[in-house]
Amino acid sequence: MSSPAQSPARATEISGQAERRRTFAVISHPDAGKSTLTEALALHAKVIGTAGATNGKSNRKDTVSDWQQMEKDRGISISSAALQFSYRDTVINLLDTPGHADFSEDTYRVLAAVDCAVMLVDAGKGLETQTMKLFEVCRQRNLPIITVINKWDRPGLDPLELMDEITERTGLTPMPLTWAIGIAGDFRGVWDIRRDEFAKFARNSSGAQIALTEYLTPEQAAESEGDAWTDSTEEASLVVDEANPLDLDAFYAGKATPLLFSSAALNFGVKQILDTLVDFAPPAAPRADIDGNDRAVDAPFSGFVFKVQAGMNQAHRDHVAFVRVCSGMFERGMVVTQSRTGKSFATKYAQQVFGRDREVIDTAFPGDVVGLVNASALRVGDSLFVEEPVEYPAIPLFAPEHFQVARSKDPSKYKQFRRGIEQLEHEGVIQVLRSDLRGDQAPVLAAVGPMQFEVVEDRMHHDFNAPMRLERLPYSLARLTTADATATLANLHGAEVLERSDGEFLALFNDIWAMRRVEKNNPDLPLAEIGTSMQK
Ligand code: GDP
Repeated sequence: MSSPAQSPARATEISGQAERRRTFAVISHPDAGKSTLTEALALHAKVIGTAGATNGKSNRKDTVSDWQQMEKDRGISISSAALQFSYRDTVINLLDTPGHADFSEDTYRVLAAVDCAVMLVDAGKGLETQTMKLFEVCRQRNLPIITVINKWDRPGLDPLELMDEITERTGLTPMPLTWAIGIAGDFRGVWDIRRDEFAKFARNSSGAQIALTEYLTPEQAAESEGDAWTDSTEEASLVVDEANPLDLDAFYAGKATPLLFSSAALNFGVKQILDTLVDFAPPAAPRADIDGNDRAVDAPFSGFVFKVQAGMNQAHRDHVAFVRVCSGMFERGMVVTQSRTGKSFATKYAQQVFGRDREVIDTAFPGDVVGLVNASALRVGDSLFVEEPVEYPAIPLFAPEHFQVARSKDPSKYKQFRRGIEQLEHEGVIQVLRSDLRGDQAPVLAAVGPMQFEVVEDRMHHDFNAPMRLERLPYSLARLTTADATATLANLHGAEVLERSDGEFLALFNDIWAMRRVEKNNPDLPLAEIGTSMQK
């Protein structure tokens, strides 16, 4: 069954629903407070009774997003799924991103599926490495960014220093929408610049509830807070444009960033973040296909797979493809076409997944994320549609930095080994490189972070019953090249050419020096940087 031709009434409903969506992800360096903020946001929207936000990581084992054994052992989040909640008159989709740098490729794919990012900065640390790398990815995608300075309840940097750092290191102009009253460590509340009022926060006894907030006029605030109010607002006046705090065009163009202060752990400033998302973050908008043509949000259903996850539920050994809806209305049971193969796919099992919680969903609109269960034919980057064909641009692959040769431990299980590697490649867990020289039995696996190999080993063993051995290769740098380079580099030490499954040839080098030597001796050899690189 495909959906009947869209009636004008339905088209209007879909446009209205798209307009209500805010789909975003939080990017941050590990420990800046991403999980805490996620819970605090959800608490505000009341999807979770009590936020576990004030507890440290070790106490957080039952919070929303931990699931796999490895993840539990390490206390990191590997899965990426979406938390949906309604707030005011909008539907907010918060896409989960892995905290660990090794899984940055997963984060990248999530960033392909959102309309906005919240950059969370630890007030005590400023912009950290992982924040900068993720920021760079957002910039490549032209994603609008909202900046949140978190942990203001703890001693930290000077706010003006933080503004300077943001301007200098990201090139974005900060546009404060709130300003912390009280220095870092003495967080009394925020001056809401748009409303010109003081939101005075009080600690809630449990800390895991919405902050008690009193709203005061500037005059009342001056009286109540004395010097803290005067000092902070004077400082703010150096960077705040009170008459026009927000330049929406500059925000959408990725040139300026609305900025707010928070303490996610105390739930301070969280409402203001939500209000900013509702008031200013871009709604789900038409998405361009591979030819650059926009597909209207009220066109028949379409979407693309940005993540494939297997083994999420140990009991079911299932396989979920996460689809970002781009146009139309998704209805469970709908039969959609997969652009790459032209094959039909029945969406009988559609779920909303966040961490361990799942719910069957019946309908979804542009901006929403649908988890399709048992979707083993779907690959990362696949477009799905009904009625009017569409193909969205592929999600670019990262420049790998780690390389290992994989071999089946048990030669009689070579078939399983091959199937497993192929499957993990489709899921985007690793990239697979081959060469005639190395032969099919020993493909080279390439990844952005070394922990990805542990995921591969674990999955090969448990999901595919194909135990394997890995052997590290000394390379750390990859460049795009052509088949011709194979002969040139064949006899060189510290370099090698391999073909990736997408048909691209990659030249691998021990290090930048090895590459420079080759470049110097072979000036005509094509060596191009891989578009999406985390190497800095
Ligand atoms: P993530 O790695 O970015 O997800 O960070 P978490 O949310 O796990 O937070 C890391 C640590 O910082 C935890 O111990 C949190 O309780 C703590 N934390 C998070 N936000 C705040 C905050 O606003 N203030 C303070 N004092 N601690 C916070």
